[in-house]
Amino acid sequence: MAQLILLPGKERSAIKHHPWVFAGAVGRLEGRARPGDTVEVLADNLRPLGRAAYSPHSQIRARFWTFAPDESVDDAFLKRRIATAVARREALPELRGQQGLRLIHAESDGLPGIVADRYGDTVVLQLTSAGADKWRQAIVNALVKATGCTRIYERSDSDVRGLEGLAPTTGWRHGEEGLAPVIEENGVRFAVDIVRGHKTGFYLDQRDNRLLLSRLAAGKEVLNCFCYSGGFSLQALVGGAAHVLSIDSSGPALVQAHANLALNPDLPADRAEWLEADVFAALREFRKAGRQFDLIVLDPPKFAPSAAHADRAARAYKDINMLGFRLLKPGGMLMTYSCSGGVGLELFQKIVAGAAHDAGREARIVRRLAGAADHPVALNFPEGEYLKGLLVQVD
Ligand code: SAH
Repeated sequence: MAQLILLPGKERSAIKHHPWVFAGAVGRLEGRARPGDTVEVLADNLRPLGRAAYSPHSQIRARFWTFAPDESVDDAFLKRRIATAVARREALPELRGQQGLRLIHAESDGLPGIVADRYGDTVVLQLTSAGADKWRQAIVNALVKATGCTRIYERSDSDVRGLEGLAPTTGWRHGEEGLAPVIEENGVRFAVDIVRGHKTGFYLDQRDNRLLLSRLAAGKEVLNCFCYSGGFSLQALVGGAAHVLSIDSSGPALVQAHANLALNPDLPADRAEWLEADVFAALREFRKAGRQFDLIVLDPPKFAPSAAHADRAARAYKDINMLGFRLLKPGGMLMTYSCSGGVGLELFQKIVAGAAHDAGREARIVRRLAGAADHPVALNFPEGEYLKGLLVQVD
């Protein structure tokens, strides 16, 4: 096995079990390693730190699989780690019985570059690092064994693969192609387009927050911005909203949202209105037209993929939040999110405060919001906390 030897002092983050070795921390590579090969990582004084997957094309030059210097990284290792990740979910009563569930949350489950989402008996797998890519077959086998699922579809078409020098790849890795899976989430049925949908097909991380919206929605005029396949919209209808206006710029997302509404014939479809538009432009139009709402959800896409984009992202977040504040009736509520890893909670709260100020609204935070329990944040990997939200009530 090749040895990756760090520069003096650069072993500190590994000692705290942070899973990434940045290119700037690497002193030298002794021996040969191809992309995805397991390498031994050593401090400058040759103290062994653990074993990691080598990514020569990425600024994240290696990702630790294990901090136990002698642990073998092989099929049995992946089987153990994957079984543990699945068992972690089974141990949480609130997740038991969920048909849509994130089974593996990458670094936060000790499995860098690996995401697996379960939709009924189908698992969707996303591999984003050279190390994960190398172990594809072992990962598929371990998932079948740990879950008993009948189908696995790979959706490794995320842009981040490019940073690892990996080409996109998608396709069935286990079982036969089937109909789009349908899951029930807190009483609402959703069909999941695992082949063409965003990410693995559905935003499982917002499950709890959609349920919270349903509890706030009775009798309210709701505006759901960036609605995708209608997750928040349908939960607002379940909660008895008077009217739900949902906006997304993606035609296919809205087609899926309509299909999802049709899967729930008990919901009052006549209270739902759908608009294919750019949210920034639509909110400005509503302002001119004097439209107002009781409850506004802002769940935009990732404006800042990394800290380097934080400035531009901050302006975009401030803009939509300011527009949102202006459209709220007195006493109304804004449920606002950022899923940008590059924008931390503290910065996000500052942005929202600035937006309220610019809109001339006094407001208070009534709840802080985060991803669901199947998207845990490992304490040694704070970067895993990408989704943050605030529920804010205006005067
Ligand atoms: N809230 C959703 C997930 C939102 S994902 C859920 O719970 O499932 C972000 C969505 O924003 C995507 O559907 C994308 O099509 C849409 N989007 C991105 N930019 C947009 C824009 N400028 N205007 C409107 N929609 C946009």
